[in-house]
Amino acid sequence: MKCNQCNKPAMYQVGEGEAVKFLCNDCAFKHRALMDAQMEELHREYNMVASQIENTLGMYGVVPKYPLRPSPTVLAGNVSLHNIRISGGNVGVLNTGTIGRIDTAVSLIGHSGNPQEMEAAKALQALTEAVAGSAELTKQNKDAVLEILDLVASEATVPKEQRRCGAMLATIANISTIVGAACALQVTLGQYLPMLAALFQQKPG
Ligand SMILES: [Zn+2]
Repeated sequence: MKCNQCNKPAMYQVGEGEAVKFLCNDCAFKHRALMDAQMEELHREYNMVASQIENTLGMYGVVPKYPLRPSPTVLAGNVSLHNIRISGGNVGVLNTGTIGRIDTAVSLIGHSGNPQEMEAAKALQALTEAVAGSAELTKQNKDAVLEILDLVASEATVPKEQRRCGAMLATIANISTIVGAACALQVTLGQYLPMLAALFQQKPG
């Protein structure tokens, strides 16, 4: 059976009776995310009403409320953080921890006032957006490169004399190998990897 929304094989059933639909993995994931967002909106409205009741009563913490939700561990679809913006149909499912840590590092080193660090912040942002949005990379290779960028981003935020420069340079060089020589991403890598590597290059001597 085909998905009701696209041509992939159906895996899930949603709705009931006449409204029943069959969805593939990807479409079911989007459906679930929308349902979750609606539910969260309802909970926020309920909590607002509960707070208004407490306000009227002049007693606080007496009306039950929905607990705050933990932030999701995966992202799907377009992603927009402080610096990093990923859009297009190829984003797939991304780890929020990884992307979030890179985004934080971009903020930190991007505002350090050090020109080399600000360049590296620009490079980290561009590389993350290009890799996450790539249609050519497999999910496995995408995750591998994003994990490397996460590692490098974290290392970039420590003081220069404490950075593990040798390991970082070897790791950065490995990105090109993972991506593969034939991939269109090589153009972006050629532009930005040197800016990132510069952060870990020691003066000769
Ligand atoms: Zn589908």
